[in-house]
Amino acid sequence: SSSTETRKFEAEVAQVLHLVTHSLYSHKEIFLRELISNASDACDKLRFESIARPQLLAGEGELHIDVSWDADARTVTVRDNGVGMDREDIVANLGTIASSGTRRFLEAMSAEQKTDARLIGQFGVGFYSAFVVADRVTVLSRRAGDASSEGVKWESDGKGEYSLEQVELAERGTSIVLHLKADEDEFLRPWTLKSLITRYSDHVAFPIRMPLEKDGKASDEWETVNAASALWTKPKSDISDEDYQSFYRSLGHDFNDALAWTHNRVEGSQSFTTLLYIPSQPPFDLMMGGRDERKGLKLYIKRVFIMDAAEELLPNYLRFVRGVVDADDLPLNVSREILQHNRQLERIKAACVKRVLDLLEKLARDEPEKFATFYKAFGNTLKEGIAEDQGNRERIAKLLRFASTRSDSRSPNVSLDDYVGRMAVGQDTIWYITADSYAAAAGSPQLEAFKAKDIEVLLMYDRVDEWMIGSLTEYADKKLKNVAKGELALDEADKQKQEEASAAAAPLIEKIKRLLGDRVGDVRVSARLTDSPSCLALSDYEMAPHLARLLREAGH
Ligand code: ADP
Ligand code: MG
Repeated sequence: SSSTETRKFEAEVAQVLHLVTHSLYSHKEIFLRELISNASDACDKLRFESIARPQLLAGEGELHIDVSWDADARTVTVRDNGVGMDREDIVANLGTIASSGTRRFLEAMSAEQKTDARLIGQFGVGFYSAFVVADRVTVLSRRAGDASSEGVKWESDGKGEYSLEQVELAERGTSIVLHLKADEDEFLRPWTLKSLITRYSDHVAFPIRMPLEKDGKASDEWETVNAASALWTKPKSDISDEDYQSFYRSLGHDFNDALAWTHNRVEGSQSFTTLLYIPSQPPFDLMMGGRDERKGLKLYIKRVFIMDAAEELLPNYLRFVRGVVDADDLPLNVSREILQHNRQLERIKAACVKRVLDLLEKLARDEPEKFATFYKAFGNTLKEGIAEDQGNRERIAKLLRFASTRSDSRSPNVSLDDYVGRMAVGQDTIWYITADSYAAAAGSPQLEAFKAKDIEVLLMYDRVDEWMIGSLTEYADKKLKNVAKGELALDEADKQKQEEASAAAAPLIEKIKRLLGDRVGDVRVSARLTDSPSCLALSDYEMAPHLARLLREAGH
C-alpha cells in the first residue's frame, strides 16, 4: 500500500540476526519457546497495566496465547491478546537492540568469539530466533487501548530491512506469523508443536491453545495444551520432581535441569510463597560481575506477575538463585521505588536467604556430590557473602570448602568444621595461607614449621579468598590467622627458644638490617622455617603480595 515504509535494521540487529540464525541450528525449536515467552510477557504486562486502567482488558475474554499452523500457506502463527505494540514500540523493540539481554549477548559474543546454543538460551535473544526457521516474518500488532485502525504490520526477511504499514486490526495484541523455510515442514505438524509446548512452556501462566485438527487442517475449535498453572500455589505433595524441573525450564534461560530447589509457604500476619532453584551450571556472565535482573527472582502478588525483582529479593552473593516469590499482602500497584524501602519485602528477602542457606546445608549434609557440583559452580560467589551478609556470616562460613595441607588435593573439600574437629588440644587458631595458585600455596616455605609440628593449614588460592578472609577473622570461637603474617608463636617452648635464638643472633640481625636498609620493615629470628634459611613475612596489617599486585594491575 501507499503508506508502506521500508527501514533498515540498526547495524547491531543485523549482527545479532546473523549470529542467531547461523548458530542456533541445532536448537532451532527454541524459537517457539521464545515467541511464547514474549506472548506471556505481553499478557503479564497488560494484566499489570489493567490494575490502574481496568478498561484496557475490555472486550476479549481471558488473556491467552494461540499457536496455530496452516499447511497450505506453510505458516506457523503465535498470537496473544496481551499488551500489543504501537508503531513506535515496534520500531524500538524489533528494529533496534532494545532488550538489555540482547545487548549483553552481543557484548559477550564479541568478547568470546564463540556462539553456542547454551549461551543463546541464557541470553534469550528471543524474537530474532524466528528467523532460524522462517525466511519471512510478519508481525501484526495493536496496542491495548488503541483504536482498531491503529494496527501495525511489520514484515521482514531478516536480511537488513523491514517494512512498516498501518493496518486495521479487530483485536488487540500481537500475531507473529512465520513463513517457514523450505525444509522446516516438521513445524507444520501439530504433534510437533504440541510436544514443544509441553516441553518448554507447560508452566506458562496463561492458557496456550491450539486448534483441533480435522481432515489434516486446523479447525476452529481450540484446546488448551499447557498446564497453565501457577505451580508454586499447589501443595508440595501434588508436585512431582519432573513438574518442578519443567517449571524451572519454563522460567527460561537454562537448558540444563536445576540442581535443587526449595518450596515453602509462610502463613501468618504476612503470607507468601517462595519457590527457589539452584542451577546446576553457572550462567556465562556470573563472574563477569554481571547480574541479569531478568534471570533472578520473579515477584508475583496474588499470582499477578509484578516484576523481575532479584535485587530487591536476594543479596548479591545469592544472585545465582532462580525462581518465584508470590506475596499475598503487598499492594498490587507497587513500584520498584516502593519495593526498595518496603519492610514486608525486607522480611521476605530474609526468608529467601534463610531458605537458600537451609537448602545448601541440607545438600552439604545429605547429598555431598550435589553439593560439590554447587560449590564448583557457585562457591566463589557464595564467598562474597562473608563480607556482604554479616548476619549470616557463620552459616555461610560453615558452607565454605578449602584445600588443605591434610588433603593432598587441589579441590576444595575441607570445611572449617572438619578443620576444627581435627585441631590438637590447646590449638586456638585456624591457620591458612593465601597465594595465587594451589602450587604456590602448597609449596610455600611458610608452611615448614607447621608441617614439622603437624598443624593443618588451609590453602586458599582463589582470587576472592584474600578479600573474603579479611572479613572472616573468627569461626567457632577460634581466630583465623594467615601463616605469613605477624609473629608466629606456636607454644611456650617455642617462644622461649626463639628468645634465646634472637639474643644469640642479635649481632647478625644488626648486620643484615644495615645491609638491607629500608627495603625491609624488620628483620627477625623466626620459628617459621625448618628447612629454608629465610623467608619474607608480612606484618599483621600488610596486604598479601599477590593482592597488592592485583590492585596495582587494576590501576590502584
Ligand atoms: P526480550 O523478550 O528479551 O525483551 P525479545 O527479542 O524476545 O527480547 O523481544 C524484544 C521486545 O519486543 C520485547 O522486549 C517486547 O517489548 C517486544 N515484543 C516481542 N514480542 C512481543 C509480543 N508478542 N507482544 C508485545 N511485545 C512484544
Ligand atoms: Mg523474549
